[in-house]
Amino acid sequence: DRTRLRDPGLLREDLFIDGEWTPGSAGERADVLDPATGAVVARMAAANEADVVRAVEAAKAAAPGWARVTAPERARILRRWYELIVANADDLATILTAEQGKPLAEARGEILYGAGFVEWYAEEAKRTYGDVIPTNAAGRRLLAVRQPVGVSASITPWNFPSAMILRKAGPALAAGCPMIIKPAEETPLSATALAELGVRAGIPAGVLGVVSGEPAMIGEILTSHPAVRALSFTGSTEVGKLLMAQSARTVKKVALELGGNAPLIVFDDADLDAAVAGAMASKFRNAGQTCVCANRILVQSGVHDAFVDRLRVAVEALKVGNGFEEGSEQGPLISPAAVAKVERHIGDAVGAGATVLAGGGRHELGRTFFQPTLLTGVRPDMLISREETFGPVAPVIAFDTEDEAIAIANDTPFGLAAYFFTTDLGRTWRVGEALEFGVVGVNTGLISYEGAPFGGVKESGLGREGSRHGIDEFTELKYLCVDGV
Ligand code: ADP
Repeated sequence: DRTRLRDPGLLREDLFIDGEWTPGSAGERADVLDPATGAVVARMAAANEADVVRAVEAAKAAAPGWARVTAPERARILRRWYELIVANADDLATILTAEQGKPLAEARGEILYGAGFVEWYAEEAKRTYGDVIPTNAAGRRLLAVRQPVGVSASITPWNFPSAMILRKAGPALAAGCPMIIKPAEETPLSATALAELGVRAGIPAGVLGVVSGEPAMIGEILTSHPAVRALSFTGSTEVGKLLMAQSARTVKKVALELGGNAPLIVFDDADLDAAVAGAMASKFRNAGQTCVCANRILVQSGVHDAFVDRLRVAVEALKVGNGFEEGSEQGPLISPAAVAKVERHIGDAVGAGATVLAGGGRHELGRTFFQPTLLTGVRPDMLISREETFGPVAPVIAFDTEDEAIAIANDTPFGLAAYFFTTDLGRTWRVGEALEFGVVGVNTGLISYEGAPFGGVKESGLGREGSRHGIDEFTELKYLCVDGV
């Protein structure tokens, strides 16, 4: 519904290739649905092979010119993009909620969070320093310089349709690399709106492209084309492994942000109010559909009942509703398949002895709305503890000792985020160092910040996003050995 937008020009349903909006050479389109109502929000153009190849060729042609733009000038363009995103945050949030379902306030938060990466990397563009190395021979000078890797591609999920793109495009463009964006098929409109603002900011033709369409076909071209030198992917571990294998054929740089199975540990000495607030923020954000959502809540026996009582009050108070409704705190899940997975996990847990303390089933609003759910008596061997639920279910596992908690927490092939609550300084260090995760929140459930390195260990991924480390995914270190001087 364009009438909701102050600037209807931000709603773009075409592909963006070589600086032009195009319906694509096949002329095919796919419906973008509002998960809260099932209404068709837009009909997004679908790229065919030729369109994707053309986007890559355009990026390849634009790469040398973009690499030559001086760092301060790239920084100014990115800064303008950042300012336009912030100035249009309301419209971008409206588009995001319409295609993804999350509450409008959360959508607005995502837009500003994503914009933060563009701002941060606009600044960082000027700081991609190299080294001057003390020479090992008279008449010789040694340098290491950072250069853009070349054309980059991003493949991103529907849970953060805007921020996941910006945290890749920010560092890529700052480093001097063009980027081809392949958004999730559920949420392409956030991507095209960002591209439209990129045009207005003065990002040159070919430097930013958006292709939407059949994921496997687009992924195959982006991972096989020799001009694409870096691929940054956020999504499922399964697809990440496939893309990594496909990228091996041309030895691309790959950055992967994959699934998690985040533990959130509440120790006996925790500040329980902080622990409940942290668990709520981490678990129920985006209806539980984030890769850093607490997936297992481990509570020490001494505070188990007190913690569960308070958590139950908070869970029951959550307001479920259409994201456009004032005060709505939890929107619909993205799809019927997402609801089915949540139901499977609850069913398995209850069948194996867990207790439902709150929620437990579909919400009376229908469609893919689901009740905020609290389970106790969950054990580490249940499906809900082994797999990422990606829904609004808080499963509580009781434990007795610190060693036991660490062992349970680390007993997973994943290693993205972990959280724990304690007021004991020694325990802070012991547990912080023992957890095999890339991101650890202590006494907080919210850890995202563009200035900090985010990423996983084990099967949760490779590479880091955010901070000065995030730009490394888009640069190569060249050693220059200059002799005869
Ligand atoms: P999710 O379960 O969050 O949808 P996916 O890994 O399936 O996770 O999706 C994340 C992104 O990966 C989306 O943009 C999706 O279109 C894309 N994708 C899915 N399958 C493939 C594939 N075979 N090749 C390339 N991209 C894919």
